[in-house]
Amino acid sequence: MIIYFDNAATTPIYPEVLELMTQLNQELWGNPSSLHSIGRKARKALEKARQGLAELLNASSEEIFFTSGATESNNTIIKLFDFDLIVTSPSEHASVIESVKACNKPVHWLELDREGFINLDSLKKIFEINQDKKILLSLMHGNNEIGTINDLNAISQLVRSYENVFFHSDCVQTFTKHDIDLSKLDIDFISASAHKIHGPKGIGVLYINKSIQEKCALLISPLLLGGGQEKDIRPGTQNVIGAIAFAKAAQINSSKERKNKTYDLQKYLLEELSKIEGFVLNGCLDLRTRVLGNLNFAFTNCRLQSEELVLQLDLKGFAVSSGSACTSNKASKEASIESSYVLRACRIPEDIAKKSVRVSISSMNSREEVDRFVSTIYSLVDNFHISKALQAPQAVQAKP
Ligand code: PMP
Repeated sequence: MIIYFDNAATTPIYPEVLELMTQLNQELWGNPSSLHSIGRKARKALEKARQGLAELLNASSEEIFFTSGATESNNTIIKLFDFDLIVTSPSEHASVIESVKACNKPVHWLELDREGFINLDSLKKIFEINQDKKILLSLMHGNNEIGTINDLNAISQLVRSYENVFFHSDCVQTFTKHDIDLSKLDIDFISASAHKIHGPKGIGVLYINKSIQEKCALLISPLLLGGGQEKDIRPGTQNVIGAIAFAKAAQINSSKERKNKTYDLQKYLLEELSKIEGFVLNGCLDLRTRVLGNLNFAFTNCRLQSEELVLQLDLKGFAVSSGSACTSNKASKEASIESSYVLRACRIPEDIAKKSVRVSISSMNSREEVDRFVSTIYSLVDNFHISKALQAPQAVQAKP
């Protein structure tokens, strides 16, 4: 059996959620826009799911819009919200970066420090000199590769003093794992996705703050045109069972016990890996401001490059990753040769970046799995130690 340590890419569905989905597939197949009782039943269940997700964010259900996932939520806001300048960071997910590029509008890329944090004073300066412009700030909560968590509280407090600044945060990696209390934060839009928290694929949400919904005709136009579902922000028949499964997974995933278990495993793994010679941790060094379960690291004295280490671990029964799964679809030569753009944005030296791997643990993992992983890493680092790299092949003596 493979040991799955790639939960930042996607997660296995919780058995309870799968069971619920199987059961509901037979009961809740109605179109939530239909007037008859079968449709009304689906609508009621859809709205309950919306309410459940809203409560976890301390938001109201009118602020939650169902989408097909976070890629769509991110695209919707960045491509369609009417702004003059976008301020963002080079470590955002590809769905943000590519949408930003597609807008053809002025962009300010924030600089990151070695741990992947932005500088609040620089952000303030950008806001100060652009007070005449409508600014969209798009900054993720937790980074999917290096786990660094932006301080939403501090950023939101800053945003609060500028009426011309609107704040979008990609919260895919933190939703239900870290506190996001939208009643206390000044955030206009957030994106989240079910398949990162043991829910199904193909369902996500876009949160849009009520006051902004009231203030302005929100989007230049929706991404899709159709039958007016989700208040025209996202037309198309809703994925009712996906939404219910998302709400159920979110509720399970936000339990204190599960978070504590993941944190303990993450901490234990870090302690064990730190004992191995040549270990370097990328991203945020303090686990309290690091995405739950995430570690991104390299061994300076191991000659395996990221992909080679991932494949060696795969042969030994472990699923980890060399970075974001979403960039590995970019089949160009550069994508496979270049190190991760997130590590480069933090100016991690190239030799370390090229050897780095990401491990992401969830509450479905165990201490025994971590132990097995650590002992496998020990032997791989030893087998592929740089000191063994350049030994000349032994001359074979011909037998007399
Ligand atoms: N943002 C982040 C930070 C992610 O990790 C991902 C998934 N890799 C996405 C957005 C895209 O989410 P989805 O797969 O739901 O489109």
